[in-house]
Amino acid sequence: MRAVVLDLDGLPELADIPEPAGAGLLVRVQACGLCGSDVEKLGRAAAGTVLGHEVAGELENGARVTVMHRVPCGTCEPCLAGHQSTCSEFRELRIAPGGFAEQLRASHCVPLPDSVGDHDGIWVEPLACVLRAAELVPPGRVLVVGAGAIGRLWIQVLILRGHEVLAADPRADRMAGARGVGAEVDEGPVAAAVLTAPAGIGAAVQRLEPGGTLVVFAAPEEEVPVSLDAVYRKELVVRGSRSATPAYFRDAVELLPQLVLPPVTTLPLERFLEGVELYRRGDALKVVFTP
Ligand SMILES: [Zn+2]
Ligand SMILES: [Zn+2]
Repeated sequence: MRAVVLDLDGLPELADIPEPAGAGLLVRVQACGLCGSDVEKLGRAAAGTVLGHEVAGELENGARVTVMHRVPCGTCEPCLAGHQSTCSEFRELRIAPGGFAEQLRASHCVPLPDSVGDHDGIWVEPLACVLRAAELVPPGRVLVVGAGAIGRLWIQVLILRGHEVLAADPRADRMAGARGVGAEVDEGPVAAAVLTAPAGIGAAVQRLEPGGTLVVFAAPEEEVPVSLDAVYRKELVVRGSRSATPAYFRDAVELLPQLVLPPVTTLPLERFLEGVELYRRGDALKVVFTP
């Protein structure tokens, strides 16, 4: 089957690889979203890696599903403390190979109802991550930093949870998109800030009220300077949140049909590098590959 495989330099190339054998349900991939964490791994992950975990697919019996690529044990100390993504079992991949392939095998599939549109299953995993992290946001006004695809999901989730939501993004077109899904624009103080674009951390920390919460939701591409002085003087709470757990996948499937989904750029696997470039340049809000 065809798949995008990383070569010895960690760079993606289209290759022919054996169909996945072994345990797990066979999933025919219909679409797979490109995640920032996939792009981060280019040039770094081991040769032979097939990336991609935001999958919309179909089982052999025709059932539509998405997959969970990582699953915590649920019973260890980190899991019970709410830090499931640091569980040692969470490191194990539950899909083989990855989503940028014609097929994969998955140990944990989540059924998709008809209310979830054609390729929209690719949004379940990112939305599940947002729903898990949203629990860390205290009541009040929230600033969503970065109005890309993930920022737009955040804005809608926070509004549904009863927050007043502001958005910040240096790009005018992205701010227009944020307003389109209900965000307000204002420079005032906020009780919490969600960083979907870590480069905006400086302004976010400044705008946080004393005792405010900063939720770090994306890995910084490079070290970003943080005013520890502000963290100290305003007694800020800084929380990281990465990835999702099974319960949030189910919540995400239920919530998805109610959301305005960000526009996607759909490309065939053959055009993988082009898709990565569109994402890197910010010319595509969300890139989705179809095998
Ligand atoms: Zn992801
Ligand atoms: Zn655990």
